[in-house]
Amino acid sequence: SVPAHLFRQAVEQAALAISITDAHANILYANAAFQRITGYGQDEIVGHNESILSYRVTPKLVYETLWAQIQRQRPWNGLLVNKRKDGDRYLADVTITPVVGEAGITTHYLGMHRDVTEVH
Ligand code: FAD
Repeated sequence: SVPAHLFRQAVEQAALAISITDAHANILYANAAFQRITGYGQDEIVGHNESILSYRVTPKLVYETLWAQIQRQRPWNGLLVNKRKDGDRYLADVTITPVVGEAGITTHYLGMHRDVTEVH
């Protein structure tokens, strides 16, 4: 079986930007790639909502669809226009997965994204 510290090291060192949020998208954890891509250090991003990454041009309908999907405990994947700490815009290919506890309730969300600005 895989020890807990190996899970942590694997997530920490993953090439994808990975974050773990509470049920309201407030960031509890962000890995090294998240810091590299967004420009926010671990200490300054924890406690903020994921909406801090929004460039405010993605249509509201996209966010509504995203939330409708993850609240049904289904994963969502799509493209969001994001903003780095320095104000730079980038296109993010985002996958959000609900983390469902033993009681069947969504306790957290797992966010994974990569910068696909060059691809599109
Ligand atoms: P808001 O007005 O807050 O939201 C727009 C619409 O989304 C609302 O009308 C509502 O229908 C829905 N909504 C928003 N918050 C909630 C909620 N707590 N519960 C139910 N419905 C809600 N956004 C990005 O722009 N970039 C990202 O990289 C990104 N990554 C995310 C990763 C994770 C793990 C999660 C859970 C969310 C992520 N989001 C991301 C979504 C983010 O949390 C915001 O919902 C989004 O940025 C819109 O915020 P807003 O303040 O512009 O609009």
